[in-house]
Amino acid sequence: MKKNISLIFLITIVSILSGCANNKGTNTVIKEEIYALGTVIQIQIYDGDEDKAKKAIEESAKRIQEIENKMTVNQEKSEVIQINENSGKNFVQISPDTFYVIEKAKHYSDLTEGAFDLTIEPIVKLWGIGTEHARVPKQEEIDDLLDLVDYKDVILDKNTQQVKLNKKGQAIDLGAIAKGYTGDEVKKILKENGIKTAFVNLGGNVVTLGSKLDGSPWRIGVQNPLDERGKHIAVIEVVDETIVTSGNYERYFMENGKRYHHIIDPKTGYPAEAGIISSTIVTDASIDADALSTSVYVLGLEKGMALIESLENVEAVIVTEDKKIYVTSGLKDRFKLENEEFQLAN
Ligand code: FAD
Ligand code: MG
Repeated sequence: MKKNISLIFLITIVSILSGCANNKGTNTVIKEEIYALGTVIQIQIYDGDEDKAKKAIEESAKRIQEIENKMTVNQEKSEVIQINENSGKNFVQISPDTFYVIEKAKHYSDLTEGAFDLTIEPIVKLWGIGTEHARVPKQEEIDDLLDLVDYKDVILDKNTQQVKLNKKGQAIDLGAIAKGYTGDEVKKILKENGIKTAFVNLGGNVVTLGSKLDGSPWRIGVQNPLDERGKHIAVIEVVDETIVTSGNYERYFMENGKRYHHIIDPKTGYPAEAGIISSTIVTDASIDADALSTSVYVLGLEKGMALIESLENVEAVIVTEDKKIYVTSGLKDRFKLENEEFQLAN
């Protein structure tokens, strides 16, 4: 599962409890873990009112399940599966949730000229990375499916909230953006319940609410792409922001000494090899961070940096395979390198 961000509270965490508060003190942490979206989702609420926190967590868990049931490609049915089953045939009526996420995914497909492409599912399925039937497909198998990958064939009808895929066999995969959307929705629910300080980790997609209880920023570790989970190369300070990483170490298999990971270059149908081993995005909305982390990974250093520098209020940390780290201008004073094996390159 994606556990690429280790949370580093450089202050000691006060009594983290699973599922209940130990006292009415304001520095109590109420923590819950939920398994959904193929990963472990941690919700940590710093609030003295246990009932309020537990209500917020219950509502969040329900919302997470609702989103998964609509957007998964890993169950019997969902709105996305319905769209895929009707490819080349009919428009499908979907909920505002799914319509919004597909619209955003199409926006990022456009913005990145197809480096991010939500119609990647046939190729993802062919490789099966992260499943027990992961394998290196034959070139002709990839060639047969590649012309199904084209985000311009996703037809959205805003008035009727319907979606259609132009060609039979085309299929949508929201794996690179729907976790981010889920993180934003959980943050919304926590705020609606009056929570001011919280930390949510959806298998590496981190969302923070407010700053830490003492008013200082959250200090989030960036996973060392070349080391085991939890080992970090740097720490980034964030307040009320989200921080999402895509990396080649999250889901992959090795064959003949070569690593095949789950972030596909839609142009080649192979795992992206643009010289990056992890890309981290820091911004306000997690749906944007999620889509951009995948996009930058596929675009590579030059185009990836240029894209992020062109966007308002979005920052990035890019780690290249030669262990160089590139940080965008607005993050420099909140970024601290903590592993001298890596070199800050800009
Ligand atoms: P990201 O970089 O954010 O995304 C990589 C994922 O996006 C790939 O796994 C692929 O699905 C897709 N992708 C690859 N290349 C591109 C590209 N160029 N453009 C656009 N998309 C691309 N995992 C399970 O094991 N079991 C489940 O039941 C399961 N259910 C899920 C349900 C939902 C609604 C979601 C959102 C995810 C679910 N997952 C499940 C996890 C999912 O399969 C992905 O592994 C995960 O979302 C990848 O997230 P990431 O942050 O690691 O990688
Ligand atoms: Mg992503």
